[in-house]
Amino acid sequence: MENTKKVALVTGAGKGIGHAIAVALAEAGYHIGVHYRSSEEEALETKKICEGYGAEVLLLKADIDDYAACEDMVQKIKEKWGRVDVLVNNAGITKDNLILRMKPEDFESVIHTNLTSAFYLSKLCSSLMMKKRYGRIINISSISGVRGNAGQANYAASKAGLIGLTKTIAKELAGRNITANAIAPGFITTDMTAALNEEIQEKIKTQIPLNRFGTPQDIAKTVVFLCSEGGDYITGQVISVDGGMNI
Ligand code: NAP
Repeated sequence: MENTKKVALVTGAGKGIGHAIAVALAEAGYHIGVHYRSSEEEALETKKICEGYGAEVLLLKADIDDYAACEDMVQKIKEKWGRVDVLVNNAGITKDNLILRMKPEDFESVIHTNLTSAFYLSKLCSSLMMKKRYGRIINISSISGVRGNAGQANYAASKAGLIGLTKTIAKELAGRNITANAIAPGFITTDMTAALNEEIQEKIKTQIPLNRFGTPQDIAKTVVFLCSEGGDYITGQVISVDGGMNI
């Protein structure tokens, strides 16, 4: 029997923002492809919570830097459910340094994980989406990609690149009822930002009009909205979810 429930693939769903997105989409009625690379225990926890909402879950371990691993992941989803309706390119890394000190390999690896892998998965998933004439691609960009940020030449370039990728996918695939949007989070409390010392965190807080750091759920709620009927006519946009940081 063909699966009629919608299917979402969320990368980096073991922890942080990806975990919250996977759980929120499960709650919204999707089956979930929970992708992870090294956070296996956390991914199992994501799976358990999603199943608690009635979702079927496929645990997918892959290094998304590797195109063949991405192909394998999408193939597994195809075999299990025969469709993918939503792709959330969330997995990402930072390797911050001032440009004079940044090693070329650290520039390249951040671009590869944050941008090239999103291209890989968008390409692979859109071929399945086109057959169903439905798809929602959501790329997790960053305020750094919109404004630039000292110490993040690699990260900001990758996140700005994601915006160009998003707009291009939106134009190329609109005719097949596939939308593509980017979300640009500000400062969200996760392991990624826990690496910043308290002094820097307090300095950042003074730049946030809503006077608090965001939560992974703040981003997840925006993803669910874009995937709902409310998002049907929104494509090629960059949605800031940043407490007003980008005003
Ligand atoms: P996080 O807690 O550090 O999680 C990053 C995720 O990326 C992990 O699940 C990790 O998987 C996955 N990942 C990294 N490299 C990978 C690779 N080569 N192959 C497969 N998976 C890989 O970060 P987060 O804060 O939740 O961030 C999620 C996204 O939001 C990122 O794209 C980040 O740039 C963006 N963002 C975050 C903030 C913020 O303030 N936190 C702000 C703006 C944008 P494993 O742990 O399984 O290895």
